[in-house]
Amino acid sequence: MNAHAKLSASKAERWLNCPPSACLEEQLPETTSEYAEEGRLAHAIGELKVRKHFYPMGPKKYSSELKKLQNSPHYNPEMLEHTDAYLEFIQAKAHSFSSPPYIAIERRLDYSHIAPEGFGTGDCLIIGGSVLYVIDFKYGKGVPVEAEGNPQMMLYALGALKEYAMLYAIETVRLCIVQPRLGEPSEWEISVADLLAWAESIKPRAQMAYEGKGEFCAGDWCRFCRAKALCRARAETMTALEAFGGMKPPLISNDEVGDILRRAQTLKAWVSDLEEYALSALLQGEAIPGWKAVEGRSNRQFVDTDEAFKVLVEAGYDEALLYERKPITLTAVEKLTGKTKFSELLGSYVVKPPGKPTLAPETDKREAVTLNPTAEEAFGKAS
Ligand code: SF4
Repeated sequence: MNAHAKLSASKAERWLNCPPSACLEEQLPETTSEYAEEGRLAHAIGELKVRKHFYPMGPKKYSSELKKLQNSPHYNPEMLEHTDAYLEFIQAKAHSFSSPPYIAIERRLDYSHIAPEGFGTGDCLIIGGSVLYVIDFKYGKGVPVEAEGNPQMMLYALGALKEYAMLYAIETVRLCIVQPRLGEPSEWEISVADLLAWAESIKPRAQMAYEGKGEFCAGDWCRFCRAKALCRARAETMTALEAFGGMKPPLISNDEVGDILRRAQTLKAWVSDLEEYALSALLQGEAIPGWKAVEGRSNRQFVDTDEAFKVLVEAGYDEALLYERKPITLTAVEKLTGKTKFSELLGSYVVKPPGKPTLAPETDKREAVTLNPTAEEAFGKAS
């Protein structure tokens, strides 16, 4: 059986907005990335911790399983902290019920009654009283994912309802995305009636996507599409520079700068997708007219630093001059002491200086800054 559904929940935003993408992607090879592998590993660690907490698992088995995962080349100690945050979130939800709820981990969820052959794996489900929690752990830190109106989560919830609605009188669904590297979890609530109405509304598009019908439509959802570099529909939307060419010289206005910058964000992402594609095609021996692959810059390094430094010491160089004594980073200290001890011992020694000004779209949650002093800063507080 295919491990991935054509209409997978994680790609739902894509096939709902661009139905033929589901069939087009099937014709292209699946690729992976360092980030995807890192995410898979963090998921496995999170799953192990949640299993150990909610199901019987001896400490020996847990340590040996964890060790196996920690041996992965993608492992980073930071994963332990972030997966703790995931476990803590689930614990808090599970303990919010007056009697122990039903908990399912890594459950296959079938929503083929909505999207042909559709299924996916829900990270964690909690059912108690009339509430169903659908919890998803995301390790990425590039793009914050919101729970509100999230079609992946809604399809998981529909799969869970299909399986559990006969056993539990579920009336409300709470969708939760735990993305600990980007801050607080995102939560959203929807009634079962509204969820079922949404499911009915997407059925025709799901059918179209399954059959490869409908119009190609480019948007934010192209970001992870396998066709993102070569897709013609996407290429045809990249008109930011054409608009720029049509403007009257000699200077463009700030309104125009804002407009071009906004449209150029997608252009930038598309160009980087094309560069990535072209490099990999060239390395595989294909021709991209006007381009070639070359070796990038690299720095000299010792084959064996210890041996090289031994030579220096034997040649009479003072060892004290060869090594630097540097304090470890604040994050490393916090890992060493743990968060509670850290704030107890060092809380008053920590400051967070303002970050370097950076350009962000208007929708960004951070407050706008300017180098101009405010009236209060310039003239002091009125007494
Ligand atoms: S790149 Fe975008 S427009 Fe093209 S198939 Fe994929 S989702 Fe559709």
